This record gives sequence, structure tokens and C-alpha cells, in this order.
Amino acid sequence: MAYKIVAANCTGCSACEPECPNDAIYETKNGLFAIDADKCTQCEGYFDEPQCASVCPIDDTCIPA
Ligand code: SF4
Ligand code: SF4
Repeated sequence: MAYKIVAANCTGCSACEPECPNDAIYETKNGLFAIDADKCTQCEGYFDEPQCASVCPIDDTCIPA
């Protein structure tokens, strides 16, 4: 399973992008960020918690897809 970013909540702050161990987070055309579900491993093997959800300042924005 992968995580996703709820676009309606994302502010485009970019805090999550460099934290992903799989380079799964990318900037979209409208300046927000999204997760490539094929690359996301929920940080398994790297961290105890999904890093995008940990660093995101907005609640309920990086959530299980
Ligand atoms: S859960 Fe981990 S692997 Fe998946 S997008 Fe977030 S930081 Fe990247
Ligand atoms: S940390 Fe949260 S608000 Fe900031 S770009 Fe990532 S998903 Fe959007």
C-alpha cells in the first residue's frame, strides 16, 4: 500500500519532498505535491513512521491511499 497527498489540503510547502527515502514525492504543475504510488513503500525498512506524514504541517494531508 502507498500513501497519498490530499491535494485540497496541501499548501505546497515542499517539506515532505526531501524526506522521502524513495523519491516518491514530486511537485505537480500547480505547485502542489503528490506521491507516486508505485514508488511509495510507506517508508518500510527506512523509518518507523511515514516521513511525509511526520513532517507535513497540515493534519490529514499525507494519508494512506
Ligand atoms: S510514506 Fe514514505 S515512502 Fe511513501 S511517500 Fe511518504 S515518505 Fe515517501
Ligand atoms: S509537507 Fe504537506 S503541505 Fe507541505 S508540500 Fe508536503 S503534503 Fe503539501
